[in-house]
Amino acid sequence: MKEKRKALWIFMPLLCIFLLFSFCFSSVKVQANDNLEELKVGVPIDRCPIFYLDKNKNITGIGVDLMEEAALNSGYKLSFIAIKEATIKEALDNEIYDIILPFGSAIKSAKGKSTIVSDNLFETPFTLVISNNSSLLNLNEIHVGMLKSLTGAGDTVKELYPGMNITFYDTMDSSIKDLRNGKVDALLHNSYVWSYVLQKPSYSDLNVQPNAMFSMDFRIGAIESAKGSEIIERLNEGIAKISDTKRRAITLDYTSRNLYQYDFSDYMYKYGMYLLLIILLILSIMIIFLMKNKSIRQENEKKLKLLVNQDTLTGVLSYVGFKKRAEEILKEYPDNSYLLIYTNIKNFKYINERFGKAQGDELLCFLAERLKELGTEDEAIGRINADRFVILYRNSGGEKMHEDYLKAFDPVKNYFIERGKDERVLLCYGIYVLTPTDYQQINIDLMIDYAHLAEKNVRERQNEGYEFYNQDQWERGKQIAEVVNYMPLAIKNGGIHVWYQPQYNYETKEITGAEALVRWKHESKGFLPPAYFIPILEETGLIYDLDYFVWERVCEDLKRWDELGYHKYVSVNVSRCDIKDDNDISEIFNNLIKKYNLTPDQLRIEITESAYVENSKKQIEATNKLRKLGFQVEMDDFGSGYSSLNMLKEVPVDRIKLDLNFLTSTGDLKKSRIIISSVIKMLLSLDVKIIAEGVETKEQADFLLSEGCANMQGYYFYKPMPVEDYSKLIIKNKDDKK
Ligand code: C2E
Ligand code: CA
Ligand code: CA
Repeated sequence: MKEKRKALWIFMPLLCIFLLFSFCFSSVKVQANDNLEELKVGVPIDRCPIFYLDKNKNITGIGVDLMEEAALNSGYKLSFIAIKEATIKEALDNEIYDIILPFGSAIKSAKGKSTIVSDNLFETPFTLVISNNSSLLNLNEIHVGMLKSLTGAGDTVKELYPGMNITFYDTMDSSIKDLRNGKVDALLHNSYVWSYVLQKPSYSDLNVQPNAMFSMDFRIGAIESAKGSEIIERLNEGIAKISDTKRRAITLDYTSRNLYQYDFSDYMYKYGMYLLLIILLILSIMIIFLMKNKSIRQENEKKLKLLVNQDTLTGVLSYVGFKKRAEEILKEYPDNSYLLIYTNIKNFKYINERFGKAQGDELLCFLAERLKELGTEDEAIGRINADRFVILYRNSGGEKMHEDYLKAFDPVKNYFIERGKDERVLLCYGIYVLTPTDYQQINIDLMIDYAHLAEKNVRERQNEGYEFYNQDQWERGKQIAEVVNYMPLAIKNGGIHVWYQPQYNYETKEITGAEALVRWKHESKGFLPPAYFIPILEETGLIYDLDYFVWERVCEDLKRWDELGYHKYVSVNVSRCDIKDDNDISEIFNNLIKKYNLTPDQLRIEITESAYVENSKKQIEATNKLRKLGFQVEMDDFGSGYSSLNMLKEVPVDRIKLDLNFLTSTGDLKKSRIIISSVIKMLLSLDVKIIAEGVETKEQADFLLSEGCANMQGYYFYKPMPVEDYSKLIIKNKDDKK
């Protein structure tokens, strides 16, 4: 322990002496450095790695380190200043710099002052750089670009190659631009600088020319003066002390550093393509995202709409949805005939109570499903509340409705029985048949009200079943549906027959012709009169097909009789609906007679008087055309009410058919006779041929004959008859005459 303390006593004073000594020594050193004379050194800083600014904005580089080394050796302290002047020559005239770097040799300042330069600090290799697609010729003949800050070096180069033409540039970029444009053949610069500058990606097209490399001195310059000379002299001593190893070490230190730092434009040049791709990718992702977002929004809106328009329990339309859709349908299909059906499950409340609400809901869904099975796209089904459904149902005739009824409602009626429960579902429904006004002034609420009223009647008066709000409308609707649906089939399958009613000359007792009258032999109803279906076909625009069928049949018959040696005449009926702008009936009849080898006078074409009144211009035009082609045109139903006697003057017909029914059915007989007698007289004096139709008695026939009308048609002579009977009559008549 004692020994330890002894050692400490010896060690402590020694440590104090050492610390004091080292303190003194270092302060002497600082003191020594502080006493050094300071030189202000002007250098260009755009020459990495020779002179440049480091991260802390301090001037650094190979040149700085070498200078520091020389200064240290010569007892100077240096302070580096970046020269602001455009050229070194100009900088020489600025007195703030004691010395300036670098110089290849002594040059004159911009103001013409002489300079002195130091010994060579180190050999700097200078290299020419050319653009990829060029080659280098004789150095003494080329045009070279250099930076303005290298004007000093420029002078040195000029001395070496007097034939070389040099242009100085403010910036590296502008010099490279001219090199690429071919304005200069090559650019000359310090090799170390090139090794730095050419790291820029956008300069990858530039090539160093190692063959054209030459060395330039790197010297310190000052204005020639006593002070300048003294500084240079002292510095020369310092320079001489720098070993080659030191020089190489400093150069290697900077050239091996990765000094070039990419700026934005470098990144853009190098990675621009990738960047563009990334931007495109991001944009596409954004677009996809936005679109997806939009479609989700639309989907949600759709769902929301559906929620409003659809009944969530059963999936049929809601009250709002039904009204909307029904209105759309009526606008879209104004030619369809529709019914509005209102259904109600009787005692649904009781069903709910007995079997529970869930069972009740299931029944409603079941009913909705059955209704949906029937529905087509031009129909609509909605649940307006609880157990009340409404259906806009396309009226396709009674039979179809009966079928649908069985298909939809029978399973519903037996819903609980089928599931082993003793309960029959009673359905009440009311039907409203839409009238033509309902298509013009669409009021779905009103239609629902009417159907509801009919349903209420059923519910109150009977257990189940249906009732029409407007029965007669229904009958008419049924008839329309039947005619529209079955007529095309009847035409195709031989259900349509042409009958003939002979026309008779009461004076000569001869059959002069016949009128072709259509008959529909219905599968279950037997022969249907034209009044049953012709107005419907006219209303629905389907009359032409039937008429054409009749005309062609008549032509076939006429041809057959012709072939048998009986040249006959037949009157055919033309509906006013057949005469349209796009339907040239004269052309149609002309084609028919050509096809069947007939003469035009064999066809007498009957156009009703009312048609002339309705659209006289078009009818008169058609009549003229027909007559020009040789057809006989007759005005049918003359006297049926609309005729103005004045019209006779304008309508160019061959014969007038006086309808006795119209002329005698009302008023007193005596007056009727007077009217008929005057009309006949007037027509005869106008030189128009007449035939009277609807002649039912001998008395009528005698009277007509006495008045000068011999041609007649009516039950008194013959009723309309099938073609076979008429054929027989023709033959018999001819035989009679023999
Ligand atoms: P309409 O052209 O005036 O034809 C004469 C109608 O009077 C026929 O009725 C005929 O059966 C009926 N009739 C003939 N003689 C007498 C009689 O003495 N007393 C009475 N009360 N009636 C008599 P139908 O065949 O029922 O035809 C009715 C109407 O249907 C026709 O009247 C005609 O306008 C139309 N029609 C008939 N066939 C065709 C056709 O093929 N095409 C077109 N568009 N209309 C036709
Ligand atoms: Ca007729
Ligand atoms: Ca008639």
